[in-house]
Amino acid sequence: MEDAQGINGQAETERADAALLAQQARRRRARLRFNFAVIAALILTGWLASRLLLPDMPKPVLSAKPAPSHATLATQWAALTPMQRDHQTDELRAGGSLAALLARAGINGVEADAALDALRTQFDPRTLKIGQKVRIFEEWPAGASADSAAMRFAGFDFIPEPRQRLIVRRTGHLSFDVVKQVRPLSERFFLADTLISSSVYEAARSGGMSPNLVVELIRLFSFSIDFQRDMREGDQLEVLYTRRFDENNQLAEEGEIIFAALTNRGKRYAYWRLAHDDGSFAYYDEDGRSVQRLLMKTPVDGARLSSRFGMRRHPILGYTRLHRGLDFAAPRGTPIYAAGSGTIVALGRNGDFGKYIRIRHRNGYETAYAHMNGYARRLKKGAKVKQGQIIGYVGSTGLATGPHLHYEVLRHKKPVNPRDLDVPPERALNTAGLEKLRNAQAAIGSRMNALATNDNRLRSLPRRNLSAAQNR
Ligand SMILES: [Zn+2]
Repeated sequence: MEDAQGINGQAETERADAALLAQQARRRRARLRFNFAVIAALILTGWLASRLLLPDMPKPVLSAKPAPSHATLATQWAALTPMQRDHQTDELRAGGSLAALLARAGINGVEADAALDALRTQFDPRTLKIGQKVRIFEEWPAGASADSAAMRFAGFDFIPEPRQRLIVRRTGHLSFDVVKQVRPLSERFFLADTLISSSVYEAARSGGMSPNLVVELIRLFSFSIDFQRDMREGDQLEVLYTRRFDENNQLAEEGEIIFAALTNRGKRYAYWRLAHDDGSFAYYDEDGRSVQRLLMKTPVDGARLSSRFGMRRHPILGYTRLHRGLDFAAPRGTPIYAAGSGTIVALGRNGDFGKYIRIRHRNGYETAYAHMNGYARRLKKGAKVKQGQIIGYVGSTGLATGPHLHYEVLRHKKPVNPRDLDVPPERALNTAGLEKLRNAQAAIGSRMNALATNDNRLRSLPRRNLSAAQNR
């Protein structure tokens, strides 16, 4: 029993040991599994973190060549990438510069300076006038949107004179060049053929003439016609004039009056433009006498004749005496022109005449201007003046009831009535000149006939119909 018990006891002990060993092995395996799982979890977490949380780092590119400079890249980019362009238009403001205009357009100062430096090698931007239009270009690669960061200043262009365009364009990073482009202009002829109902100015405007050309037209006739006294409703105006157009059919420049005729109270005054060999030109009448006379009829614009030449009762002095000139009432400050070319022989205060100027002309003529508000700048005794040059302004200095110009013409020191004067023409053509005039007349005549047969004939409708159509 004891043995059996002893054997039994030993066997029981061995069974207990085996169970203990098995339990230890299970625990070891479990620990290993746990450790393995922790390591695997850590590796997986690390990989996920590197995949999802850290940004992609660029892979370095190894190259034996040195990296191209920024400028080279920009040039290549400009050359290779098809660019889209857009422009905005602005104009030079009073007191402003081209630099200010570019700044207003939002162009970076450094880029604007580089572009202006390039321009200055060919053109002085200070010569640009107020109102000069400038187009500013921006460009960006095709496909990119116009407001993208790739958008950049591409240069600018402008037309400083009708026959020329200046283009400042980008050639690379902060480098620009200048291109001068000749604009071929084509000349076209226009015919204004209108009845005068209120004024020559309105008639000419309704005939399509520009305001500046109308001023020239009035100056042309001002030697032979006194617009304040002589015009009648129903007088007729015919003008052949030119205008010049660019390749896009846009008006680039006003041209010249080639021929002008004014039928006034049944009398026709007609003048043809004739170019001389020295490059100058003048207008001549049928007989080859220049339209330009030694003296203009009226040395002030927009004035009303308020007192004639001759005996009259003086408005201030109250007694009758000879009025030795003409009075033209006009607003204070209205410009006064030299009636003819000559030399200033008197300039200054002259008693009842107030501020006064006298000019000596050819052929024994002198003209005098009184009651002036002031003189044109830099004008003094002994100075030479040209016909039509502004010499002063209408005022009421001296003995005067209101602002007006007192104007006198003297011939060999004796006052003459400016209205009765037959002032000689400035030029008269010789035989060769007359022959040139006949050829010009023939050419102009056939051109006018051709124009009169097409739609320009619309312009010969009475002016009222035209303005009624325009008012609609
Ligand atoms: Zn007077």
